[in-house]
Amino acid sequence: MSESEKGIREIRINPIVPSESVLIATARSMRPRKEEAPAPRDTRHHVETCPFCRGNEDKTPPEIKRYEVDGEWVVRIVENLYPVLGDDRDKPGLVFGLQQAIDGYGRHEVIVDHYAHGIAIHEMSESHLTILFQAYQSRASELYAMDERLKYILIFKNFGPAAGASMAHTHSQLIALPVVPQNLHEEVEHSRDYYKKHHHCIFCTLIDEALTFETTIYDRDSGKIVRRINVGQYVVERGDRFIAIKPFASRYEWEIHILPLEHHSDFLETSAEDLADLARVLKRTMARLDAVIGGAQYNYFLHSRPRGDDYGDCRNSYHWHLEICPRTSIPSGFELGSGLFVNTISPEDAAEQLRTVKLD
Ligand code: AMP
Ligand code: ZN
Ligand code: ZN
Repeated sequence: MSESEKGIREIRINPIVPSESVLIATARSMRPRKEEAPAPRDTRHHVETCPFCRGNEDKTPPEIKRYEVDGEWVVRIVENLYPVLGDDRDKPGLVFGLQQAIDGYGRHEVIVDHYAHGIAIHEMSESHLTILFQAYQSRASELYAMDERLKYILIFKNFGPAAGASMAHTHSQLIALPVVPQNLHEEVEHSRDYYKKHHHCIFCTLIDEALTFETTIYDRDSGKIVRRINVGQYVVERGDRFIAIKPFASRYEWEIHILPLEHHSDFLETSAEDLADLARVLKRTMARLDAVIGGAQYNYFLHSRPRGDDYGDCRNSYHWHLEICPRTSIPSGFELGSGLFVNTISPEDAAEQLRTVKLD
């Protein structure tokens, strides 16, 4: 078998959280997973029976907030009908020996992203997406301000059944947790360690590397080119204030991260102008994804500076970002057993396809 037929077969260490490593295995012969044929997306504009469509506002629990344009709502935030976290229970949970538990205190809310039932992110206008980000920001800020027990507010989106969405109407969710999730804690801790050693944010360093388009290494004696490294190969989309990058150690074949170009630790402190640029970069990134893989089903989530005394000093070292994880296959026993994600497409190839695809 030639080298090119073998493809890449390597374990890549996540530069931010080294324990989250990825096995990149592109050779056809050792494909561990088959790509799922995605179920067709529900593209209807309005569905009579859908609780998230206009006219059915009484089919959701009480509305918390709404954003209107021309007298009609365009984004709504409502209580979740089946919350995974809620108020304190009367009785504490059973705690025995090693089997410790924390009460499931918190909040779970649904953000109806858009009034049009089956609209995809890349089909929404930039001004609409800006309103959606303002809704995320303002609700999370309100909750942090009103309840000190909330340590992390995770804002995420499931789009399509392959991404775990049970409702076809486009929606996001907000889950306010009484603890900081372990993966976020590790990102914060590792980037803090990096900052202590290098006096520089690791995310900013990764962005700087990605923006250094080409590095050429010459032989000292002959002056001949020895190696050309195209580090700009990880950039998928670039705005004035945000960048979309394909991570070197991508867990998912089409995973993309969007980060502010300037250092900021907290999504909640992002200005309205920055949110408008984020809207543009997200829209174009999702359009690229749609053009390359068609009808992507994905999860996205925001990682931002957590609250609480332990996290106050990570303003310089932590860098907020949005992770987009398209779901083209189902994790197998190997992944569950090893904790090692398997990615069958080289991140460099995926980035090139995403970057070079023509947008209308
Ligand atoms: P997903 O997790 O993507 O399936 O998100 C759908 C969410 O909507 C779930 O968390 C449901 O609990 C919630 N949900 C379903 N029906 C309603 C409803 N009528 N009003 C409010 N939330 C609902
Ligand atoms: Zn609907
Ligand atoms: Zn930074």
